[in-house]
Amino acid sequence: MSGSQDEDEGGQWEPGGEDGDGGGRELDSQDEDGGGQDSEPDELDGQGDDDERPAAERTGKKRTAFVRAKAYPNGSTGPLRRDILQVLGVLKAATVKQVWQLAAPHHEHPNTVASALRDMALKESRLAEQRGSLGGPDDEEEGAGGKKKSLAQARAERAAAGGKRARPTAPKGSNAKIWGLTELGLDAAAATLPVGRKMGNRARSLGRGTGAPHAMAVNDTIVAFTGANTPGGGIGVISDWTTEASHPLPGGRQQIADAVLIAPADGVPVLLVEVDLHNGTNLKIARKIDGYAEYFAQTYKDPNHEGHPSRAKQLPSWRRTYPTAPAGTLPPIALVLGGAGPRAIDNTIDAIHDLAAQHWEPRRAFDFTDKIPLLACHLDDLKAKGPHAAIWWRYGSTNWQTLTDALANTDYIAATRERIAAEKKAAQEQEHQRLEATRCPGCNRREDEFRYRPHASDGTRLCTDCEEQARKDRARRQLLAARAHNDALHPCYTCHGPLGGPHGSRTELDEPAEADRLECPPCASERSNHGRRPILLDLPAPRQVRRAAKHGPPDDDPWWTVRLLHAERWPKEARDRGKGPS
Ligand SMILES: [Zn+2]
Ligand SMILES: [Zn+2]
Repeated sequence: MSGSQDEDEGGQWEPGGEDGDGGGRELDSQDEDGGGQDSEPDELDGQGDDDERPAAERTGKKRTAFVRAKAYPNGSTGPLRRDILQVLGVLKAATVKQVWQLAAPHHEHPNTVASALRDMALKESRLAEQRGSLGGPDDEEEGAGGKKKSLAQARAERAAAGGKRARPTAPKGSNAKIWGLTELGLDAAAATLPVGRKMGNRARSLGRGTGAPHAMAVNDTIVAFTGANTPGGGIGVISDWTTEASHPLPGGRQQIADAVLIAPADGVPVLLVEVDLHNGTNLKIARKIDGYAEYFAQTYKDPNHEGHPSRAKQLPSWRRTYPTAPAGTLPPIALVLGGAGPRAIDNTIDAIHDLAAQHWEPRRAFDFTDKIPLLACHLDDLKAKGPHAAIWWRYGSTNWQTLTDALANTDYIAATRERIAAEKKAAQEQEHQRLEATRCPGCNRREDEFRYRPHASDGTRLCTDCEEQARKDRARRQLLAARAHNDALHPCYTCHGPLGGPHGSRTELDEPAEADRLECPPCASERSNHGRRPILLDLPAPRQVRRAAKHGPPDDDPWWTVRLLHAERWPKEARDRGKGPS
């Protein structure tokens, strides 16, 4: 049990009293004891005679002692009143239960909070006042209490006049009283907030009608995040919150956030919270995100950025308001959706997916430039399970996640990495298949095995290398065939070597020689180069012809067939006229 609980507070809870329903929901303040009045005004900082803090913390205060029983007939302590001031300073309006959950959760019952509120409503204090009830505006007691006059005050006066206390008559939970701070109370509350903290809109749009349920839903959201009973531990403290935080837009407009949480130490550098109770259209919710996008897009020029000359011309204005936001990202927005069944809320979440896609959808896999981290959850889930449970829908993800994971976009990042890896693998496999298809029918090499890829095969014809080899092979076969043919003929008439030329020489004939060829290629070019006339074989003697007809070609004349050819082509008469091969 922490410090501010003491026997005074504990002793104030009366099971049979007006707060005895025990539910903590309805804590009507039919004051039984508003009469003990002290002429001394309360200290606005809430440090009264019951202050349990060390004296050192209270130095500088004028008042150090009260006659407690008279100043605070309901028995509240200074620290508790101070905590309540802070809670109501942030929430502006809240039920006793909500105040209790944030200001004094260690108290077993909310009654001490109710008592403190009644103390604060006394006309000597005029810090707190009642603002109707959740049941609606038609609270008859409130009507009787006057318009702007504090209801509690009126009750206190009535009680002082001897009025009897009465039990609440409204159905349990239907008309939980809503408390707020007076102007005086707001001033006092401001003093309890950390230096530099803004109070937000002092007159929260509580209204009389739909405004109250919305404001209470925002409070419930804050309680779910920050209350001491939050499963897994509360996020931040009440002073880390601002309600109705204004975000100025061009043209004097503004985008007002229902609540903003700044709790970097608890893993939430900044979180803008929009609570919706399903009494507008999905488009209306999307328009709010449009508004934030417009707000985030505003820039300012700062030639002396962070104290030194900077070339930065366009700095994001929002970062001056939310310096705790991590680099490289816009402040996240959490949509807390209630006021309808789970299916209707899921439908809203789905609808926002498309309606706000331009604001949250990454440009590419991990390019979130100018994109808003957008989260949504069911208010009922948030209240029942707390923010640490996997109740958050981060747009772009496919699973409900914890707040930490939703803010870090864990699911999306993992899924996207997986997808990219799979795509890469598929591309690699496809490339592998493509390369396999380029294997050369000759050498079986793939395209990637060639230094110069255009030389590779397309898988149907030979690669350039194999083509070249095939050409050489064909030429070799042709040469060998020609050589076999030419070697079977007569030798060179001049050098008596092979008629096709020396075997393997560069000039060797690679085709069958003409039947009347007499010289190998070297000898033929030698003759041509020297301008000598072609060979004309002597006519055979008639005796040789007769002998060959009987016994075949003569053994001593390898060129016999050519001699016969020459004799036929250039007979004696032609030769006498000077004819011969040219
Ligand atoms: Zn090949
Ligand atoms: Zn020759």
